[in-house]
Amino acid sequence: MNLAGQIEQYLPRQLMELVKDISGQAANLGQKVYLVGGAVRDLLLGYPNFDLDLVVEGDAVKLAQQVAETSQANLLAHHRFSTAKLRYENFTLDLATARKETYARPGALPVVTPGTLMDDLIRRDFSINAMAISLAPNDYGELIDPHQCRNDLEQRLIRILHPGSFTDDATRILRGVRYEQRFGFEFEAQTAQLLKRDISMLDTISGDRIRHELELIFREKRPELAVNRLGDLGALHRINPSLKGDAWIAEKFDKARRLKKPSQLPSLYFCLLIYSLRQRDIEQFLARLNIPAKLSRAMRDTLRLKTSLPLLDKSSLKPSEIYYLLREYEPLAIQANAIASDSSMARRHLQLFFTKLRYVKTALDGEELKRLGISAGPEMGKVLQMLHKAKLDGEVSTRAEEKKLAQSLSLKS
Ligand code: ATP
Repeated sequence: MNLAGQIEQYLPRQLMELVKDISGQAANLGQKVYLVGGAVRDLLLGYPNFDLDLVVEGDAVKLAQQVAETSQANLLAHHRFSTAKLRYENFTLDLATARKETYARPGALPVVTPGTLMDDLIRRDFSINAMAISLAPNDYGELIDPHQCRNDLEQRLIRILHPGSFTDDATRILRGVRYEQRFGFEFEAQTAQLLKRDISMLDTISGDRIRHELELIFREKRPELAVNRLGDLGALHRINPSLKGDAWIAEKFDKARRLKKPSQLPSLYFCLLIYSLRQRDIEQFLARLNIPAKLSRAMRDTLRLKTSLPLLDKSSLKPSEIYYLLREYEPLAIQANAIASDSSMARRHLQLFFTKLRYVKTALDGEELKRLGISAGPEMGKVLQMLHKAKLDGEVSTRAEEKKLAQSLSLKS
């Protein structure tokens, strides 16, 4: 099967030219370049995907160095992994030397040695990701599918390539569910059986790798589908016995999407995922996933604020009272609670703080107060605080009103 026509149809012209140039240079070095992984899968499905992974039978770093010298590309080489990234103005290309992988023990990172394209395809997670397209000038566009993976794609099946796959690397359980839910596919029967058998192998995976896979899930359009499915399969329970995927999570994730930019969503999803957990469980979760300090702070704050929400559930609160109750919390914790709280009053107050109150500033600063005869030090601090409070509560709004209030406050003291 030749896919040159599809490549032309789905890839932007400029990207195609870059790929052809690389492949031409590889041929001059006696090397062959292939398009692999997700881009091949998506090309066959007819979905646009400009995230191209190229495999080189030869030396990917040497090839990338040569390409960078003769083009505008910026090169990032990883000699240790024999991989390179070429950054162009509008695109990024990942190049990797074809490799063979063996696993010394379950969950360990694989031992990698140079190999052929066939070695490189058989090491992959699922059949839908284990096809290649030749980019060599003499057979450009030829689909290479030694394991009849295209059948699985047509039958919408997620299939592992050997029975020990989940034992070697249980992150594939999370990856498989992500693809299953993204494409609306199903696990092939034996794969489904092995996945259930091997759920406990998630224990062999480092926190960083589990977190990374959850982050990938959180970049999906509707991550709640994968979260719920992982819940049903017992995978969430394996990561932390208190984690759940349910209708509540689905509703809150959906709400989060309406409030936040996609790039900021994964952190918010993390805060919502642990919303129903007790403090002890959250600590276990943070430690298990080796969550970085900033996000850990936001997740702990989410719970701390949740327990203080009754204070916000009063209609009589002044804006300044809301401000003082909330100013110490991480913005992410405020948003998580604004989405997840059961009380509409508390939600309104959180939203008011998040969108408005936290930005309120006085028009007058220290220099201007000095000119009004207020001396620097505790007195000025107090006046500034009173001005800020009055501004929050709408008692002053113009600079002149602030001035008048500052003068009357300084006369009193
Ligand atoms: P997408 O980004 O759409 O999820 P992708 O194919 O680009 O799909 P990546 O995470 O970028 O996904 O991985 C690139 C390729 O590397 C995959 O298609 C797969 O073949 C392979 N791969 C990634 N992770 C694993 C793994 N844990 N085990 C085996 N192969 C893997």
